[in-house]
Amino acid sequence: MSDCIFCMIANGEIPSNTIYEDDDFRVILDNGPATKGHALVLPKQHYANLFEIPEETLAGAAKVAKKVAANIKEKLGCDGLNLVQNNGEAAGQTVMHFHLHIIPRYADDNQHILWNPTKPTAEELVEIKNTILGE
Ligand code: AMP
Ligand code: ZN
Repeated sequence: MSDCIFCMIANGEIPSNTIYEDDDFRVILDNGPATKGHALVLPKQHYANLFEIPEETLAGAAKVAKKVAANIKEKLGCDGLNLVQNNGEAAGQTVMHFHLHIIPRYADDNQHILWNPTKPTAEELVEIKNTILGE
């Protein structure tokens, strides 16, 4: 995808703050980080989202995330860490090239990455389950 910014970054055509690279992935520092050390795992091949990325590439991204997360934890001393992956505008995706966020968390980081729980009834949960299972 010649006009995709993450294709260009992942393949080294645009400079980035790279903290990991192998044949298939580049991990860069997010330039609008939620917290110190917020990084993005970018596959070098273009896939728009979770629905397009092959299983093996997704598994590869998870392996890279684990390795990089361990290094971030050791070097930056974060207290926790979120892996976040957005698919579609409704889910907050702004760059339509698959990427996995690695977000180190600090006790005092004042970020709000989690959701507000809702209160479905037991019947509503069963109905959703049945819809997903096609029953
Ligand atoms: P998402 O909202 O999941 O699509 O995340 C896109 C992320 O990419 C945001 O956190 C942006 O701050 C980040 N981002 C966008 N452009 C760049 C760039 N050129 N270099 C580094 N991070 C970027
Ligand atoms: Zn791309």
